[in-house]
Amino acid sequence: MTSTAREATSLAEVDEADHHALASHEVILLLETDVDRGLDTAEAERRVGRYGPNELDAAATAGPIRRLLRQFNHPLIYVLLVAGVVTLVLGEYIDSGVIFGVVVVNSIVGFIQEAKAEAALDALRSMVRTDSRVRRDGSKQTLPSVDLVPGDVVFVEAGDKVPADLRLVEVSELQVDESAMTGESVPVQKDEVALDPTTPVADRRNMVYSGTLVTAGTGVGVIVATGARTELGEIHRLVGTADRLATPLTKKLTWFSKVLTAAILGLALVTFLIGLARGESGVDMFTAAVALAVGSIPEGLPAVVTITLAIGVNRMARRQAVIRRMPAVETLGSTTVVCSDKTGTLTENQMTVRVIWTADTRYEVTGSGYQPEGIIRVLPEGVGSADGEGGPDRGGVDLDEEGALHWTLTVGVACNDARLNREGETWTVVGDPTEAALLVAGAKANIDRKELSRALPRRGGIPFSSDRKYMVTVHEDGQEQRRVAVKGAVERVVELCRQELLADGSTRPVDPDRVHEAAEELAAEGLRVLATATGHIDPDVAPDVENMRGQLVFTGLQAMLDPPRQAAIDAVGACQLAGIDVKMITGDHATTATAIAEQLGILGERDDGDVLTGPDLAELNPEEFPGAVERASVFARVSPEQKLRLVEGLQSRGHVVAMTGDGVNDAPALQQADIGVAMGRGGTEVAKEASDMVLTDDDFATIEAAIEEGRGVWDNLKKYIVWTVPTNMGEGLVILSAIVLGLALPILPVQILWINMTTALALGLMLSFEPKEHGIMRRPPRDPSEPLFSGTLVARIFMVAGLLVGGAWWIFEWEQGNGAPIEEARTAAVNMFIAIKIAYLLSCRSLTQPMREIGFFSNHWLLFGIAVQVAGQMAITYLPFMNTVFGTAPLSLGAWGLIVLGGAVAQAVVTTDKTVRRRLAERAAAST
Ligand code: ATP
Repeated sequence: MTSTAREATSLAEVDEADHHALASHEVILLLETDVDRGLDTAEAERRVGRYGPNELDAAATAGPIRRLLRQFNHPLIYVLLVAGVVTLVLGEYIDSGVIFGVVVVNSIVGFIQEAKAEAALDALRSMVRTDSRVRRDGSKQTLPSVDLVPGDVVFVEAGDKVPADLRLVEVSELQVDESAMTGESVPVQKDEVALDPTTPVADRRNMVYSGTLVTAGTGVGVIVATGARTELGEIHRLVGTADRLATPLTKKLTWFSKVLTAAILGLALVTFLIGLARGESGVDMFTAAVALAVGSIPEGLPAVVTITLAIGVNRMARRQAVIRRMPAVETLGSTTVVCSDKTGTLTENQMTVRVIWTADTRYEVTGSGYQPEGIIRVLPEGVGSADGEGGPDRGGVDLDEEGALHWTLTVGVACNDARLNREGETWTVVGDPTEAALLVAGAKANIDRKELSRALPRRGGIPFSSDRKYMVTVHEDGQEQRRVAVKGAVERVVELCRQELLADGSTRPVDPDRVHEAAEELAAEGLRVLATATGHIDPDVAPDVENMRGQLVFTGLQAMLDPPRQAAIDAVGACQLAGIDVKMITGDHATTATAIAEQLGILGERDDGDVLTGPDLAELNPEEFPGAVERASVFARVSPEQKLRLVEGLQSRGHVVAMTGDGVNDAPALQQADIGVAMGRGGTEVAKEASDMVLTDDDFATIEAAIEEGRGVWDNLKKYIVWTVPTNMGEGLVILSAIVLGLALPILPVQILWINMTTALALGLMLSFEPKEHGIMRRPPRDPSEPLFSGTLVARIFMVAGLLVGGAWWIFEWEQGNGAPIEEARTAAVNMFIAIKIAYLLSCRSLTQPMREIGFFSNHWLLFGIAVQVAGQMAITYLPFMNTVFGTAPLSLGAWGLIVLGGAVAQAVVTTDKTVRRRLAERAAAST
C-alpha cells in the first residue's frame, strides 16, 4: 500500500469510528497519540496537511451562484423581469434592454456589497482568536485553536469553548452547556466511560463537542474531529448563515419596502388604466406604469443599509470593539446606561502592593509595577499610605523580627497561582494581576516562590472565585496536621480567625472591628485590600469555611493600588456629556470602589443611595429595586448573579443597557443586556459567546468609542433614507402627474430608470461614508421607540418631492415654450432632476447643521460620486449613442444655467428650512 493510500484509509477509519463506544485507550491507539506526551510538533504539522486547519469554511455555507441568485429574489426584480419580457415581446427593444440592464447592475451591486459585508464579518471573527491548552512534545502549551489536529491532547476548564470534538479520557466534575448543538441549555455532566455504539449524539457523555461551552470542572480529551468534520461543522453546513446581516432596522425596512412595493404596484396599475381610458397606447402606458413603479421603489435601500452597517462594524473594529451580532451596531447608538466592571476595564489592572497592615505595625512597600525592586519598611504612626515613590530607601525591615509581616507575605506567595516572567528588563504576569502583586511584594522581602513551594509543598485547596471571594491552599509543613493559607476579601477571612499574629511572633485574640477599621481606612484611599490568614487542619478535612471558621490566625492586610485608566476618565466624561449614565459594578470593597469611582468622575457629590452593596441589593423589595438601581452609580461586593437582576431592573425603567462581564457566571447578564460586552483579553469564552461585542483591549474607553460609532451609523442610515424617499417619490410623481393630467411625459420611462439606477449608486451610497458629525456625543441618546421619520422630516420629504416635480415640469414647459424639440425639453428635465438631487444630497450630509459646520470636503467619496454622476449626465446629454438609447438631445448653455439655478434654489430652500427649524428647536430648548 502506498503511503497516501494508507493515510486515506486511516483518515476514513478515524472519521467513521464510534469514538464514544471505544475505551479511551483504544481511541488513543486509533489516533496514534499519547496522553502523557501529546503529539510531537512534526507529526502535528503532518496532520495539519492531512486534515486541514481546525476552522469552519465560511464560504462553504452558500456558494457564489446561490448568493447571486438570491439577489433576484425580490418583489421589485420580479416586476422588472416581467416588464422586460413584456417590452421585448412588444418589440420595444431599447426599453427592454435598459430594464434588463437595471436588473443585472442591481443584482451585481447587491451581490458585491453582500459579499463585502460578509467578508468584513468573517475578518472580525479572526480578530477574536481563541487559544487552547494542549499537550505537545511532552509539555503543556497554549496554541491557537485553529492549529489543532486529530490526536491532540486538549485540556478544558470552566469558561472554555470546546475547540474540536474530543473523546474525554479524564474528567473532574466536568459540566458542559451543549445548547449550541442540542438547544438544551441545562449543562450536561460528563465522564469518560465507554458507551453503547447506538447512543445518540446528545447522550454521549464521554464526548465533548466543538463549539459547546464548559460551565464547570475540568477535563482532558483527545481530539477525534476538527473543522468541518466536527458535529458543529455538520450543523453549520445544514443551517448556513443567511440571516447574519439582519438587524431590527433591516427587518423593518424589508417589511416597509414590501408594503411600499405593493402600494406602488397598485398605483401603477391605476395609472395604466387611467391612461388607457384616455385613449393612450397600451404599450406606452405599460412602460410608463413600469417606470412609475421602478422610479418610486427605493430598491437601493436594503443594499445601502447593509453596507452602512458593515462600514460601521469596520470602524468599530478599528477602535478595538468587535461586533459579534449585527443588531448591536444599531442598539449602541441608543444606549442610555453603561454598567462596567471596575478591575481591568476602568482601572489599569496593574496592581502594586503599597501598604501592609498587621495587628501592631503598618508597613510601606516601595517600587512600582511588577519589577521586584523596592523595599518594605515600617511606616511611622499617623502617616498616610505610601505613595511608593517618595523618600530615599533607607533599607528594609528584617523579616526575622517581623513575624506578622513574614506570614502575611508568605501566605500571599503560597496561596497563589500567578507567575512572573522576566523578558529582558520587563516583567510580565501570567495569571491574576492581584496575585502577581502579592508575589512581587514577597520578592521585595526575598520570599522566593520556588523555595517556598519546596518548604511548603502544596497539597490541594479551593480556587478563588468572585462568588466566594477567597482562596485556600493546603500545604505540608512537616507536622501531622496540614497548614492552610487563606487570602481574600477582609470580611470573609476575618470570620475564619480566632487569633491575630504580632510582630514578635506571639498571638492574641483577633479584634475584628479594628481590622475592619484599618481596611476601611486603606480602601478610602482607593486601595484594594486583601486579608491573609493561616492555621492547621486535619489532613482528612475539607478546607472549607465550615471546617475553618474561628480556627485560623489572622496575619495581616495587603493593600494594593490599581490606578484608574486615564482614557477611562475621559471616556466617562464623554459618556456623561452624551447623556449616558455610567455605573461601576465590582466585586471589590464598597469603600475602594467609591474612592476609584470618585477619581473616575462616576461619583460626583455624594448622596444617599449612590453606593449600593450586594447585601443592600438583596434587601431591596421588588417594587423599590428598579428605582434604587437607577439612582445608584456604584455597586460593590456584587455577585455575578446580582448583575442579571441589575440589568432587568434598569431595563424595566426603559433603559437600553450595555453591561460588561468576563466570567462564566456573567453570561446570563450579558445575554440579558441590550449590549453584552465581553473582554477579549481577560474574558472567558463563555462570556464572549454570550456577548454582542468584544473589547479586544478590555478598555472602558472602547465602549464609549463604539457608542460614538453606533450613533454615526444610525445618522448615516437616516440621512440615506431621508435622501432617497423624497427623490423616489418625485420620480413616481412626475409620471403620475403627466398621465393623470393627460400631458406629454416630461421624463420618459427609460430616463426614469437611468436616474434611478445611477443616482442610487453614485450619489446615495456615498452617504454611507459620511464622517461623524461634530457634537455627536453631545446630544442625548436616541429613543429606540422614536419613529424613523419625525414630523420635521416628513414635511421635508414632501417639500423636496414637490421641488423635484415642480422643477422638472417648469424647465420642460419653459424649453418647449422657447421652441425646443421635446427630446431637448426632456433632457433638460432629467438634468434638472439630477441637479436638485445633488443639491439635496449635499444638504442631507447633516439633517440639522448647515454645510459650513460639516465642511464641504470632509467626505471625498461623496464628491467623487457627484463627479461621476455629472460625467454620466454629460454622456447621456451629448453622446449620440446615448441620445438614441435614452431619447435625449444636447442642451444649450442657457438650459444649463437654469438647471444650476434650479439646484441652487432647492439648496437654498432646504437650508432655510433647516435653519428655521433649528432656531425654533433651540428657542424651545432654551425656554424649557
Ligand atoms: P471587578 O468585578 O470590577 O472585576 P474585582 O476584580 O475587584 O472587581 P472580584 O475579582 O470579584 O472583583 O474580587 C472580589 C474580592 O475578592 C476582592 O475585593 C478581593 O478582596 C478578593 N480577591 C480578588 N482576587 C482574589 C484572589 N486572586 N484571591 C483571593 N481573593 C481575591
